[in-house]
Amino acid sequence: MATITQLPPGVVNKIAAGEVIDRPASVVKELVENSLDAGASRVEVTVERGGSELIRVADDGCGIAADELRLAVAPHATSKIRDADDLFRVSTLGFRGEALASIAEVSQFRLISRPADCDAGAMLEVHGGRIDEVVPCGSPPGTTIEVRTLFVNTPVRRKFLRTTQTEMGHVGDAVVRLALAHPEVHFSLAHQKRRVYDLPAGESWLARIARLFGGELADQLIPVESEDGGVRLSGYVASPNHSRGNQRMQFLLVNGRFIRDRALQHALSEAYRGLLMHGRFPIAFLRLEMSPEAVDVNVHPTKLEVRFQDSGRIYSQLLGTLRTRFLTADLSTSLDPSRAAVAREAEDAGDPADDARRELVEWAQAEMARNDTPRGISPEAPPLKFGDSETGASDGLLTLNRLPRAWTPAEAKAEEQRRAAAEALYAFAPRPEASTSSPGDSAEAADESSSRTSPAGGVRGGRALQVHNRYLIAENEEGVLVIDQHALHERILYEQLRDKILSGAVESQALLVPEPVDLAPSEAAAVLEQRELLARLGMKIEPFGGDTVLLTSFPAMLANLKPDDVVRSMAAQLAEGGKPPDRRDLLDELLHSMSCKAAIKAGDRLTPEEIDALLEQRHLVQDSHHCPHGRPTSLVFTREELDRQFKRT
Ligand code: ADP
Ligand code: MG
Repeated sequence: MATITQLPPGVVNKIAAGEVIDRPASVVKELVENSLDAGASRVEVTVERGGSELIRVADDGCGIAADELRLAVAPHATSKIRDADDLFRVSTLGFRGEALASIAEVSQFRLISRPADCDAGAMLEVHGGRIDEVVPCGSPPGTTIEVRTLFVNTPVRRKFLRTTQTEMGHVGDAVVRLALAHPEVHFSLAHQKRRVYDLPAGESWLARIARLFGGELADQLIPVESEDGGVRLSGYVASPNHSRGNQRMQFLLVNGRFIRDRALQHALSEAYRGLLMHGRFPIAFLRLEMSPEAVDVNVHPTKLEVRFQDSGRIYSQLLGTLRTRFLTADLSTSLDPSRAAVAREAEDAGDPADDARRELVEWAQAEMARNDTPRGISPEAPPLKFGDSETGASDGLLTLNRLPRAWTPAEAKAEEQRRAAAEALYAFAPRPEASTSSPGDSAEAADESSSRTSPAGGVRGGRALQVHNRYLIAENEEGVLVIDQHALHERILYEQLRDKILSGAVESQALLVPEPVDLAPSEAAAVLEQRELLARLGMKIEPFGGDTVLLTSFPAMLANLKPDDVVRSMAAQLAEGGKPPDRRDLLDELLHSMSCKAAIKAGDRLTPEEIDALLEQRHLVQDSHHCPHGRPTSLVFTREELDRQFKRT
């Protein structure tokens, strides 16, 4: 029978430390949060080897008195709350009194501090939890904390550290989030003596966003603002032509704290419904300000999640604010000239895109009517103002009620992507030589040819009917086939690409002008770490300084997609947690997403030739019945079944 013993404090502390500190980036987060809580106007972060060798955070905040240094590193010691009631009105970033104790428990830790009203500073060192004596030490006003050899006494944790680049990527993400929330503070970040960020204090929020994410994005952001039930929402969202393949560019700050919230991310996606292609996510920088009592921050060890008192109402506020904004905004102002040209072309041609646009406008108007005016928002939100508007409107003000034009970019983009996908499809299709029909008479042609058997075998008629722009209906000997166009094309591309990779023959095109791609720090790190793997897929990537990578070669089979989009989506995938450790599996995963990206989408209208080409290729793949994710690509309704259903037997 095992005996029960109480764990010694050292073990308890290590367990607690594991909850708060799981990698260098979490140390950086905790230390910088302390600096901000101390009222610092300047925070300098220095990192060596991705933080595994050294993390130093220096601030000019209020400092810690010499006789309180030992207390600062004691577990559950904090100056920020006094009793349990305070837990419900936390106005600081920290309050659990755990961070310094946890960090000092698993590193070589040095704390130097001097309150502004003291003549001299003091220093305290802790070595893997063993606390030394406090000694006098010269120091400018403020606090400097150095953390060396993180996880020095927890070898398993240390072994789990990823490469320097990956860890540095996470450190960069942490600093970005904190710097974004506090534009009033000067932030700097240096890695291996190289300056990564230097963000001057007191700049506007938009200026800081521009500095962190590039002026091109910042210039096109749409300001949003509303107030409801004591909750103030403000910030910026990107126009639909700036989207991402994941939600990492969605920054939600609640009372100055970066959080993740599934419900609010869902509200964002809802607001953009119909404006973004499937699988794309909006970019947003949003602040929510409310009284500390309205939000519980004590629900998550690293406080990445919070609980709102009235989450439903905040959801509606966010959704309502954005919808109102979009309906009064001429989103085409942020359209870049090349896309504008595509949009105009589509209009001139009296393209089917017109119908889709009209449909979208009707949908939006109905939605408006149905939702009434969202609470607390003036029904007549002022028109958007863009400093450097390209619309030609002389005063820079955009007029209301220009709805039909508002949907142009999304539609244009959809059209552009549809064409690209269709072309990609052709690139691989052994063109059906014997095709006799001309485009535009598909119904007749289908009738006429329904008695012929396609030379490729299986599907009869050589032509199928497209329904809802997503399914193809065809007949074969057995009965009627309903084919999912995206799933089938994805499967075909997947197998083609896989075969090429296995035979080492992925065609890669050197780009005439290598393309720089801006990424999040962790994404850039992940991409560079997996350079070799990406090269096998035909994507050659070089470091380009900062969080930018340079794409020099691109897979020929994806020639019709935008290279930077593809790199971004691969990067996002690689940077996500829980990656398969095995290279083969990782390659396979990338393969999946490349084929998914390159494949025609549900919603793409296909020409009769495209339908033919797709069906031809159906017979060239090994498993035409399942898409790479395992979903079926087609369903069969046998003749017997149909006869039975129609009571013929
Ligand atoms: P918490 O932030 O939850 O209070 P920490 O372990 O992070 O707990 O810090 C313990 C205490 O040490 C803080 O409450 C604060 O009083 C003090 N402290 C930590 N870092 C700093 C700093 N950079 N400047 C001033 N005081 C600090
Ligand atoms: Mg803290």
